[in-house]
Amino acid sequence: MSVAETGAADPLDHPLVEVLGDRTAKVLAKELGLRTFGDLLRYYPRRYYERGDFSDLTRLQPDEEITVQAEVAKVTKHPGPGRRPPRVEVEITDGKGTLQLTFFHSWLAERELRPGTSGLFAGKVGSFRGRPQIVHPEYHLYDEDEDGSKAAEEFAKPRPVYPATAKLRTWTIQRCVRVVLDSLPELEDPLPAEVRRRFNLLDLRTALLRVHRPDDLAETLVAKERLKWDEALPLQVVLAQRRLASQAEAATAREPRAGGLLERFDERLPFTLTAGQRTVCTEIERDLARPHPMHRLLQGEVGSGKTVVALRAMLTVVDSGGQAVLLAPTEVLAQQHHRSITQMLGPLARPGQLDGDPEGTKVALLTGSQGAKERRANLLDAACGDAGIVVGTHAVIQEHVQFQELGLVVVDEQHRFGVEQRDALRAKGSVPPHLLVMTATPIPRTVAMTVFGDLETSVLAELPGGRAPIQTHVVPALEKPNFFTRAWERIREEVAKGHQAYVVCPRIGGEAGDEADSDGSDAPETEPIEAESERRPPLAVVDVAAELEAGALAGLRIGVLHGRLTPAEKDEVMSAFTEGSLDVLVATTVVEVGVNVPNASVMVILDADRFGVSQLHQLRGRVGRGSAPGLCLLVTEAYADTPARERLDAVAGTLDGFELSRIDLEQRREGDVLGAAQSGRRSSLRLLSVLRDEELIGLARQAATELVAQDAPLERHPGLRAAVDALQHSDRAGFLAMT
Ligand code: ADP
Ligand code: MG
Repeated sequence: MSVAETGAADPLDHPLVEVLGDRTAKVLAKELGLRTFGDLLRYYPRRYYERGDFSDLTRLQPDEEITVQAEVAKVTKHPGPGRRPPRVEVEITDGKGTLQLTFFHSWLAERELRPGTSGLFAGKVGSFRGRPQIVHPEYHLYDEDEDGSKAAEEFAKPRPVYPATAKLRTWTIQRCVRVVLDSLPELEDPLPAEVRRRFNLLDLRTALLRVHRPDDLAETLVAKERLKWDEALPLQVVLAQRRLASQAEAATAREPRAGGLLERFDERLPFTLTAGQRTVCTEIERDLARPHPMHRLLQGEVGSGKTVVALRAMLTVVDSGGQAVLLAPTEVLAQQHHRSITQMLGPLARPGQLDGDPEGTKVALLTGSQGAKERRANLLDAACGDAGIVVGTHAVIQEHVQFQELGLVVVDEQHRFGVEQRDALRAKGSVPPHLLVMTATPIPRTVAMTVFGDLETSVLAELPGGRAPIQTHVVPALEKPNFFTRAWERIREEVAKGHQAYVVCPRIGGEAGDEADSDGSDAPETEPIEAESERRPPLAVVDVAAELEAGALAGLRIGVLHGRLTPAEKDEVMSAFTEGSLDVLVATTVVEVGVNVPNASVMVILDADRFGVSQLHQLRGRVGRGSAPGLCLLVTEAYADTPARERLDAVAGTLDGFELSRIDLEQRREGDVLGAAQSGRRSSLRLLSVLRDEELIGLARQAATELVAQDAPLERHPGLRAAVDALQHSDRAGFLAMT
């Protein structure tokens, strides 16, 4: 049956069994999950072997697994006893050296291997009578030609190497690809002709031929460039469609009122906004003043002053009769936000009270640990509109709160704020609220464009002036034990000067606790580390606190903070630390995000190598937030010149969060950027790298925006529309739902 007769609309959807036969198709499906023409043709070579990449027969090492490209020089057959197949000894040569291959009892080898035949031979090098040999090698013979010219040609071409398995060799995959390519009819190209012309891209068929069956390596690069577009463009189209849809959505335009809250707030602000803050505030004001919902991502280094920017946006909304909600990922953060917002607003947050400003608005706090009475009062304030600002954790706000008129949702330090959450909040108002997402984890531009592609982004690049920079040092505990002792002395010195300190450990410890701390929230988890069974368990908060209390830091006031404390206990410890009635806080990464105690000047991170690069950067952002210089000590048992130490040196070497997040992302598997790390799903970007293909993604975004502006449902581009549909129905759509 020819492909044309099967009637599937897109040839790439045809099942492989049509041309490969049952057995092979089954193996491909079982081993690699490849079922259709498209599956197989999009299973790209991992790399290419060129002539020089094959093993050299003059330099064979015993026990080495080799693949050689060679020609059969000599065949000797030793007939088997009776009717048994012969033992076949074959000498192959790569033009430089020779190697003996031995097949015991093989009719097949007897039949197939003749002098002059050439191909690939693979196996483990053994020896026989002092000479290297391979017993029962696997082999793949090149097509024969009368004069051998075809084989010579084959020798010169790069050979694709596919990610293979033990049951499915790369050359089997190659053979299958060849069969499918040979039976491939005309294809509907998902890239519109105008896009291909404009960006000088190959058509799909040519690109597939060249990536799988190149004449030279340069060809594969051009082909891959085109195939990357197949991944980038549909993604960007989905995002462009989404942006367009949200632009069409109606929202209430919000503008500050003359003599209103925002004005009064600005008057009592004890500092002037940085230039960056002013720019971002203007961007947000412009968005809010439009009758469409804002979707903005605000990225800013730890300590760059995002809260005041958010607060100004919230006040703008309150000024125009709406309410704003600030969602925090953890109780600790919600409480801290509530404290600092109330404090910044001063009398403006106490409208009904004697010392308050009658023009002000209440700031309601909603968390899971509140007593029923307190909660009820706050819920009421939110529902009747007395509280212009509501601060709380996701869970509580989503489940329980009703608003009088919700105008703005601010999400702090939270990547995983999905469409569902957004919709849940949206349902609480008659019109969609404006949305501002804030993050201190810098996201490289392309990742933002891809992952957060339907948000506009603002960046706060500078830190407010008057901040002393953070000094970071690596403390190799095993190589330089006296440095380690010195770390505790430094804490004592800082405390003597009236400052405070953090000690961070990877684990909680105590009875039940061997788990890393995640605060029961979505806060980023400790990066998985290499499995090393002989490694000692990571240091734990509970143990370290007890040890310090009895030893190096005896006499200081030490508190502990981790995810197993009840929310009330957490708040108590945080308040005590904020007020200065604790000198040292021994904590897990719960202190990672947002915690703001400007008087803290030193942080010691134990087992620092157990944390991710970005995480360390986040952690150290907790110190140096006041006028005292910050000091961060990364204590590790990792030795110099190990990857772990290199990562720590990188953190110590720069304060540029974007640079560090790049290093961090580069060390993870690419898939994690979009997939597992963000949405728990596997990314299926194959060629496209969100880190390295910044330019291409930018161009694809631009092209997608234009295509969608002209023809949103893509009626004129059925090929692209099919690709977009396929994407939306695949698991890749999972990460699109994140923002
Ligand atoms: P983050 O961006 O990490 O959330 P915050 O909003 O918590 O940072 O701000 C960190 C600290 O800097 C706060 O104490 C805040 O009051 C202060 N701050 C913010 N903006 C300025 C400014 N323009 N000048 C001086 N201090 C500022
Ligand atoms: Mg913050």
